[in-house]
Amino acid sequence: MSAVARKIAIALVHYPVLDAEGRSVTTAITNLDVHDLSRSARTYGAETYFLVHPIAAQRELVERICEHWRTGSSGKRIPDRVEALARARAIPSIEETIEALGGRANVEIWVTAARSIGPALSYADARARLRDGGDGRTVLVIFGTGWGLAQSVIDAADATLPPIRAEAETGYNHLSVRAACAITLDRLLGPS
Ligand code: SAM
Repeated sequence: MSAVARKIAIALVHYPVLDAEGRSVTTAITNLDVHDLSRSARTYGAETYFLVHPIAAQRELVERICEHWRTGSSGKRIPDRVEALARARAIPSIEETIEALGGRANVEIWVTAARSIGPALSYADARARLRDGGDGRTVLVIFGTGWGLAQSVIDAADATLPPIRAEAETGYNHLSVRAACAITLDRLLGPS
């Protein structure tokens, strides 16, 4: 199978996501998520890692983290991290993320969840779409926080990816979004 022909970006959504009671809430930016998903994005070649947050102070926190690594002592100590964090971009909404990628006609949106959220695009088909060039649209893979993506985000997507799970029925599936993102990118962009 040829190399990946289409651009891919990832987004970590902090609103609208669900709380334990299924209400739509806004979650806080987690420093670990900034670093870990940036590293996964850079490792697998995702063009941009959008951190979606409606609150300016939270977006400024992301910018401060990235700036600290760009210009501070940490970046001098671990230059590889600077390269990863360069993929991170705080943005107010999913809508603005789509605009940043050229508008809805230019973006194919895939969402993820720990549970089945509708007819899934198999990883085999998803890999083929990334490699056959398709209609050339950028693929945006959206990850949630809290207890997962709000239904409105899922409904607005073009496809859902299958939940990552063990082959055996372990009765437990509570991956961190950091783990879920890395596994998802490896299934999409890793060697077959
Ligand atoms: N604070 C939590 C943490 O530990 O990261 C956030 C959990 S949040 C629900 C996890 C997000 O990661 C989901 O919205 C989904 O995007 C992704 N995710 C988690 N488990 C997954 C799975 N088994 N398969 C696919 N995606 C999963």
